[in-house]
Amino acid sequence: MQRRDFLKGAGVGVAASAAAALQACAKKESAGAAGELPAIHWRLASSFPKSLDTIYGAAEVLANRLDKITGGKFQIRVYAGGEIVPGLQVMDAVQQGTVECGHTAGYYYVGKNMAYAFDTCLPFGLTARQQNAWMYFGGGLELTRELFKSANIINFPGGNTGVQMGGWFRKEVNSLADLKGLKMRIPGIGGQIMARLGAVPQTLAGGDIYPALERGAIDAAEWVGPYDDEKLGFAKIAKNYYYPGWWEGGPQLSFYVNIEKWNALPEAYKQAFEAAAAEANVNMLAAYDHKNPIALQSLVKAGVQLHAFPQDVMAEAERAAFELYDEEAAKNESFRKIYTEWKKYRDTEIQWFKLAEASYDNFVNK
Ligand code: CA
Repeated sequence: MQRRDFLKGAGVGVAASAAAALQACAKKESAGAAGELPAIHWRLASSFPKSLDTIYGAAEVLANRLDKITGGKFQIRVYAGGEIVPGLQVMDAVQQGTVECGHTAGYYYVGKNMAYAFDTCLPFGLTARQQNAWMYFGGGLELTRELFKSANIINFPGGNTGVQMGGWFRKEVNSLADLKGLKMRIPGIGGQIMARLGAVPQTLAGGDIYPALERGAIDAAEWVGPYDDEKLGFAKIAKNYYYPGWWEGGPQLSFYVNIEKWNALPEAYKQAFEAAAAEANVNMLAAYDHKNPIALQSLVKAGVQLHAFPQDVMAEAERAAFELYDEEAAKNESFRKIYTEWKKYRDTEIQWFKLAEASYDNFVNK
């Protein structure tokens, strides 16, 4: 079965069709001398803590579905970030075969190569739907797989948060000038762009953000969106909640599998893994789209002040983002190769999405 065939039915039918494929394969194999499919036990290192339950949970969706589809034969045990591998070293652990697979985000590894960000998102990049379109049909999976192949990894889309929020600010940001010298917890490429806007980006792990914001060591912090942010309690110490998180317009999480381990799987298990990963991918976005509005209502009730980023901030950030990409493309061949295709794809998607989708959204969302 080809990937695109089952993706036509992505969503509810995925697991069922994979189960049917598995039965067919199992029948074929049991007719031969080899007989039964093997029992396989893998370890999955997640980059995420259990407290980020929606993101962490995608790995459990994958593992549970594989367990069910294979009648308990293909088992994946999920370990939270730091349990067996530090959260930001999951890619290395999969590459080296320390673990068979991982659940992480490509943009954690931009220090190795900025091109890994295409596996997650780039500021002012694709939305969750556009990322799925690019990955499954627009050549994104082929391009990123070529990149990951050199790291001995095969990658699978494994979730998306949707557009994130812009974060929590102790003081209002009324213009670009208010960002000058502002210390903000914002990691990665978003942080690099904030620096070009005059802010001072900081990289802090989730658990360290609240105390830093509370004692004024930082002036602002971004995390995810209403559901995850509410749990960290930022509303008590920084009431200004900005939108949108232009640095994460549709960040994709990914499953990484060690290539040798992948190649050694029976074809039926490969099909089952691919189907379960696609389910986890759809599931996470749906979960966030369900949980975020409820959390947002609760935050507003608690006195949180919602603000859109000023237009001059948005415009300058977008200009600085593409300036950064052009600079990177000029010196990084693997980045340039993907960027050229990605940019064309993005421009075409926007022509469509600004028509029916945006006009429908703008009319209905009032
Ligand atoms: Ca974020």
